[in-house]
Amino acid sequence: MLKHLYLASVVILLLQMTVQAQDPKQTEDWSHKPVKVEPGRRRHPPSDAIVLFRTSKDIRNWKNRNDGPAQWKTFCNQMIVNGTGDIHSKEVFGDCQLHIEFKTPRGEAGKSGQGKGNSGIYFQQRYEVQVLDSYKNETYFNGQAGAIYKQSAPLVNASLKPGKWQRYDIIFRAPKFTPDGSLSHPAYLTVFHNGVLIQDHFELKGSTTYAGYPRYEVHGDAPLKLQDHGNRVHYRNIWIRKL
Ligand code: MG
Repeated sequence: MLKHLYLASVVILLLQMTVQAQDPKQTEDWSHKPVKVEPGRRRHPPSDAIVLFRTSKDIRNWKNRNDGPAQWKTFCNQMIVNGTGDIHSKEVFGDCQLHIEFKTPRGEAGKSGQGKGNSGIYFQQRYEVQVLDSYKNETYFNGQAGAIYKQSAPLVNASLKPGKWQRYDIIFRAPKFTPDGSLSHPAYLTVFHNGVLIQDHFELKGSTTYAGYPRYEVHGDAPLKLQDHGNRVHYRNIWIRKL
């Protein structure tokens, strides 16, 4: 009799444990309600984005390297590289999501390699995602469009012809440094080029360098920089979300 009672209680306990383990409420997360964001429609930014350039007057969100007004030409809600030097956002950023549209110029038939449609997007003024005419223009692969310059070639070449509007959607994770100045967390970049994944959470080795190997220098939040490399690259519809 006792043996039967014991067995019955074990069976009930097991049943209770099974029911408990299968309760779907156990795996529901109610701790942090996601903030409501209105997605942008028809090329509009999402509701929580910071607009860096949408209409020509937004050139005022940018400055030159000496903290003076940005001198790039504006035309029909575009900013055009014109040989007056790199421009920097007035606002500073750490982790962020960036949307940016660009077109490389037509009529550069005599140019090639790094000399054709070259510009660039520098996160925190240091980490360059390359802008280049890479439609039919070969160069070292970690220097073509969508490369993390001199560090990582794009996974594929999603470039369009010169004169066609293209877009990058980029997730940047800023590096972190300890109080004594050593690196505690490297920077990462994920890049979509015209909707195609071309950099997949790439771990950066340090600041972009033209010659020599990259290394980190201690810094905090910093502006976004757009490069003037002497080619008439056009930009439009630039927005950013802090992460
Ligand atoms: Mg460049």
